[in-house]
Amino acid sequence: KSVMPTAIMLDLQMPDLDGVEYLRILGERGCTANVIVMSGFDARILKTAVRLGEERGLRMSGGMQKPLSMETLKQGLNDIRRNQNPVSVPGIQLAVREKQFYLQYQPKIRIGRETETGTKLSLASGDWPLDSCEALIRWRHPTGGLIMPDSFIPFAEANELMVPLTEFVMHAMVDQLVAWGEEGFKPSIGFNVSPKTMTDLQLPDRLAELCDAAGIAHNRVIAEITETAAMTDVQRSMDTLTRLRLKGFRVAVDDFGTGYSSLVQLHRMPFTELKIDKSIIMELGMEEDALTITRSIIDLAHNLGMEVCAEGVETQACVDILRDLECDILQGYYFHKPVEAPELRKISK
Ligand code: C2E
Ligand code: MG
Ligand code: MG
Repeated sequence: KSVMPTAIMLDLQMPDLDGVEYLRILGERGCTANVIVMSGFDARILKTAVRLGEERGLRMSGGMQKPLSMETLKQGLNDIRRNQNPVSVPGIQLAVREKQFYLQYQPKIRIGRETETGTKLSLASGDWPLDSCEALIRWRHPTGGLIMPDSFIPFAEANELMVPLTEFVMHAMVDQLVAWGEEGFKPSIGFNVSPKTMTDLQLPDRLAELCDAAGIAHNRVIAEITETAAMTDVQRSMDTLTRLRLKGFRVAVDDFGTGYSSLVQLHRMPFTELKIDKSIIMELGMEEDALTITRSIIDLAHNLGMEVCAEGVETQACVDILRDLECDILQGYYFHKPVEAPELRKISK
């Protein structure tokens, strides 16, 4: 009977064996060991190999660039001994304690139809008016580098770790609003509420308490809930959403167009804003269907009294189409990537 090792260090180029192929074999055998891949090739190859391993269900403990320094090797082995694959229950708990999380902010640009003075906003000017921003969580791991939310939020969600993370986000966001306020900068801000947090009936009260203690007007805060989350437990989501609204917060349906919610359900929920998912927006100008879908979503949302934000705007062509469709707010790399607080402040000036 074979014994399963606790750690495997796998070189991607071995004389008689292909490391990528070996990852597949390990996956097929249900290997539970921590796997570290090594390679002399560039970092991208290492990253791809790590992702491949993860997709095969392996416990990937990262990649190491060759030649290895003694320090790197020690750190990697220590992490394994302490079972510190960063994306693990103890890894996230430690990160919360050690304050390894922080927020970036992505500007949202208003291309709204008319300004207060009644003139149309000129989009060609490049002088984009900032409407608000979205707070996005980041994890700066001491050895694992920058970890993006898509790699740990779903894990945290599945392992009951969202409460401390959401608390962190709400506190950090409110603190930032206070700091900006002292400089006379008062943007609105969106933050993401995960599906399970959505069914936490205390959320509206905690958020209200936080804002009140800091003197932040509730209508500056927008809770973003994905379409799928809102529809998973409709009753509880409705409860939370309604109470958020009653307290004066705004609520946005996020990633709209990826789920399967019926439009009828959408109309029953008290959303103030609808964010069209980037997978649809990025196809604008390329896929005829994307245009049709976007047009009907915008019309529907407007008829239901919601503002529309398009996410994933990357090109001028996309901006032009969305302006023609009378989309209200745009967010995307074409304007700005998510940035840190001081930079958002500069953008707003
Ligand atoms: P989301 O809420 O839909 O956030 C938008 C994501 O799209 C962000 O990725 C942003 O960087 C990215 N994005 C914006 N413009 C463009 C563009 O033009 N092109 C492309 N390719 N991407 C663009 P990010 O920051 O990696 O966040 C991914 C997701 O992680 C978020 O999607 C959200 O669902 C989740 N997330 C982020 N922060 C938090 C958080 O604090 N709490 C919770 N529960 N979830 C969070
Ligand atoms: Mg969002
Ligand atoms: Mg989204």
